[in-house]
Amino acid sequence: MAQPTLGHLDPLFIEYAEETNQLLREVFQTQNVATFPVSGTGSAGMETMLSNFLEPREELIVGVCGVFGERIVDAATRLGVSVTRVDAAPGDAVDVASIIDSITPSTAAVALVHGETSVGIAQPLEGIAEAIHDHGGLFMVDCVTSLGGHPLAVDEAGIDVAFSGTQKCLNVPPGLSPFTFSERASERLERRRHAVPSWCFDLQAVRRYWGSGTRLYHHTPPINLIYALNAGLSTVHAEGLTNCWDRHGRAQAALLAGLEGLGIEPFGAAEHRLFPLTAVVPPDEVDEAAVRRELLEVSGIEVSGGLGGLAGRLWRIGTMGTGASLDSVCRVLTALVQALRSQGMDVDAGAMDRAVERWEEEAW
Ligand SMILES: *Cc1c(COP(=O)(O)O)cnc(C)c1O
Repeated sequence: MAQPTLGHLDPLFIEYAEETNQLLREVFQTQNVATFPVSGTGSAGMETMLSNFLEPREELIVGVCGVFGERIVDAATRLGVSVTRVDAAPGDAVDVASIIDSITPSTAAVALVHGETSVGIAQPLEGIAEAIHDHGGLFMVDCVTSLGGHPLAVDEAGIDVAFSGTQKCLNVPPGLSPFTFSERASERLERRRHAVPSWCFDLQAVRRYWGSGTRLYHHTPPINLIYALNAGLSTVHAEGLTNCWDRHGRAQAALLAGLEGLGIEPFGAAEHRLFPLTAVVPPDEVDEAAVRRELLEVSGIEVSGGLGGLAGRLWRIGTMGTGASLDSVCRVLTALVQALRSQGMDVDAGAMDRAVERWEEEAW
């Protein structure tokens, strides 16, 4: 990122941008021509998706199992979209059959969060694309936390629009939203009756720069962040995408084994665990916020608390990108043993051995 900033029409930068888009197709597992980074964080990707592929009064079904599903509901409602929400039971993924049952001939789209970071839940996607496509609607997915960290294949899942973020599993600073949309979504965009309400995120205009040989200026892309994205995606490419997913799964298994040794219980449905984000229930006998404060102040490790209604009731430990390693898992466990002891809890330091054993078992 400290390299000189090239112009957005410099042939060298264009070559670089095209390579980045190709690497994005690989990590999204898509052939979509329309694949590029939107300028802005993950939420900008969400706004781009909702403002381009939906119009006021159109019907959107949103599956909600945490804060980011709520964010889709909020953002779509502000755009005048008519939202029907399908809520999950607490700590569970949204029931796929309930989503399919709520689809009607007038449903314009279904939106789901693949990796719900607020609760550590991975949403099953199977069967939804067929159901919504039967009515001519679109399948939209937030894969901010799952991209690169949890198995996902955009084309195979029949996803029409997907957005992500750079700072979760891709090892890149925040500020870009990797974005992709299908031919079906592109046709929907062409058929819009109203102009896209956002000037900045109007894909018809944005893609004249990103998606064509003409490279028409719309806004200046964050050039140096794209260098970083190219570098981050290159590390995923070098490791191999499935190896990358497996490493995230392995780190979570090791972390959970270690936490179990400390008597700390995981939160949420075991069959829907999101590899890069492990949510656990803080033990009753400690002040959960004090433990997190000590982890940060003494060990420089930031563990997040619960959001919204789960404030004070969760610890959320991220093992994302290079953080999905045995080294990171052991560091967080060591720091946690220390912090729990300073809260007067009697814990057994054997947690590390269990984590290491589990890491070894998961090797293949
Ligand atoms: C982080 C996150 C977002 C928002 O991304 P920002 O980069 O913070 O704007 C959206 N959805 C999910 C699932 C996330 O984890």
